[in-house]
Amino acid sequence: MLLLLLALQQQPLAARADTLKPAQDAVDYDITLVLPDTGNHLLGQVQTRWHLTSTKPIEVQLDTSMRVVRVLMDGTADARLARSLYGRDQLTVVIPQDRAPGDSMTTAIRYHGYPRAGLVFGKDPQGGMAAFADNWPDHAHYWLPVQDVPSDKATASFHVEVPEGYQVIANGTLQRVDTLPRGRTVWHYRIAEPIPVYTMVVGVARFAVTSLPDAACAVRCVPMALWTFPGDSAWAGQGPFRRAGDIVDYFSQLVGPFPYERLSHVQSATRFGGMENSTAIFYPEQAYLDRKLDEGTVAHETAHQWFGDAVTERDWHHVWLSEGFATYFAALWQGHAYGDSAFRRVMAKEADDATINNPVADRPILDFATRNLDSLLNANTYPKGAYVLHTLRGLMGDSLFFSGIREYYRRFRDSTALSSDFADVMNETSGTDYNWYFEQALTQPGFPVLVVRWRYSSGELKVQVQQVQKDSWGVFQIPGLVLRAGGVDYHLDIADRLTQHTFTGVKNRPDDLVVDPDGWWLISSEVREVEGRRR
Ligand SMILES: [Zn+2]
Repeated sequence: MLLLLLALQQQPLAARADTLKPAQDAVDYDITLVLPDTGNHLLGQVQTRWHLTSTKPIEVQLDTSMRVVRVLMDGTADARLARSLYGRDQLTVVIPQDRAPGDSMTTAIRYHGYPRAGLVFGKDPQGGMAAFADNWPDHAHYWLPVQDVPSDKATASFHVEVPEGYQVIANGTLQRVDTLPRGRTVWHYRIAEPIPVYTMVVGVARFAVTSLPDAACAVRCVPMALWTFPGDSAWAGQGPFRRAGDIVDYFSQLVGPFPYERLSHVQSATRFGGMENSTAIFYPEQAYLDRKLDEGTVAHETAHQWFGDAVTERDWHHVWLSEGFATYFAALWQGHAYGDSAFRRVMAKEADDATINNPVADRPILDFATRNLDSLLNANTYPKGAYVLHTLRGLMGDSLFFSGIREYYRRFRDSTALSSDFADVMNETSGTDYNWYFEQALTQPGFPVLVVRWRYSSGELKVQVQQVQKDSWGVFQIPGLVLRAGGVDYHLDIADRLTQHTFTGVKNRPDDLVVDPDGWWLISSEVREVEGRRR
C-alpha cells in the first residue's frame, strides 16, 4: 500500500498528455526536396526507416495541402494504398503493415504542393528567393510526412535541390554539393545523431558564410559558422556572436560534450526570437536589421543544443525541461562571462517575470490541461522553469547539483526525458529524495507570498512568517529559508501557513531583516518590524 501510494505520488512528474501518440519508431528520415526558381511549390520525397514497435499500421502526418503521389513499402507499391492516396482529407497517411513488433521496414512517400506553414518562402534583402523551415511545435508535417511529435527522434539526411547561386543549410554536416545541368545544385547534409522532428530544418538563401574559430577544443573541437545575409555579417560577428565560441566552451565544460559535430548560427525567417534547430540555430532576420539580436539570445539557443535538442522533452507538457533549462543556462553564462552581479540582474528579471508579471501564475508548470501547444511557451515554462533549477541548486549545493546535471545529460543525451527522469537523476546523485520539491515546484501553481514580522528584545529575535498567497496556490515548504538580520543569517524551516520562532542569544538589535538575501527561492515577501512593548 505504501509503495502504491508512492507510485501515485510520483505520477504527475511522469504524466503524458500529448494527444498524438506515435505507433511506431521512425529511426531515420532520408529527405529529398526540390525547390523552385520562383514561387513556393515544393516537390518532396521522404524515405523513412522504421523500427516496428506494434502491429498497428504506420501513420505519418502530412498536411492535406500536400498531395501524395506515391507510397512505397520496402521499395514496392501496395495496391491497398493506391486507392487512399487521392482525395485525401485526413492529416494522416496510413500505411498498412503486417509484420511483427521488432521488425524493420522502409517507406517512401513522394508528394508535392504549396506548404501552408512549416516551410516558409520569402525574399532575401536583395529580392532573391529565400525559404526557411519553422517547425516548432508541430509544423514539420506541413512540409514533411513525419511522426510530428517530440518523443520520436530520428537521424536524418537531406538532399535539397535549389537554383545555382543559392546556398542550403540543414541539420548536421554538409557532405557534398552536386551540380546538375540546367543551372541547379543539390546540397547533401547528414546528421548522425537522432534529433526531434521539430528541429529538422532547411534554410535556403544567398548567404555570406563566416567561419568562426573552433569551439570546445578542450573536449572535442566544434566547427562554428555564421550564416547571414551579406550586409549583416560584420555586425553579427562583432555583436551578438562575438562570444559564440566561448558559450559553447562554457556549456561543454559545465554540462558535457557538445552533442553534435558542428554549430551554425543562421539569419532566417523564424517567427520566434530564436529557434534552436539542432546544429543550425535560426534567428529572425529583422533582429539583425534592427541590430537588436543580443548575446543572451545566442546563449539561450546554444544551451538548447544540450537541453531540448540532445535531451528532448518526451511530451510537450514537460517543455520546461527545454525552455527552463535554456533560460537558466543563459543566466549562468551571463554570470560566467560578466560576473555574479550580471547573473543576479538576469535572475531578478526572471523572478519578476515568473511572479508579479506572470499571467499564468494560477497554472502549474506541468499544465496537463493545456491543449494549445503554443500557449506552453509562457512565464511558467521559461522563467519559473529556470527557478526550478536555481532553487534546486540552492537546496543541493553546487557540487551535487552540477554532478546531477552532467549525469542527466549523459544518461538522456540523444534521447527523451520526462520531469520524473530528471527528478530521479537528481535524487540519485544527491542521495536525497527531493520529490516533495519537484512536485511543489512543477505541479503547484503560484509561489509563496510571505509576510514576515520580527521583533527584537533583550537578546531574543522573534520571527513570524505567514504565507498569505491565495488558497488555490496551496501551502509551500521552504526548508532552511535564510533570514539575514543585522548581517547574521538565521535559518528557518517553513512548512505551514504560519511559522513562529524565537532565536535566542542575539547580541544586538538588528537594523533590518532581509528574506532569502541570496535569492535562491522564487518568493514575494514583505517584512515588518513590530515594535516591542514598552515597559
Ligand atoms: Zn528556448
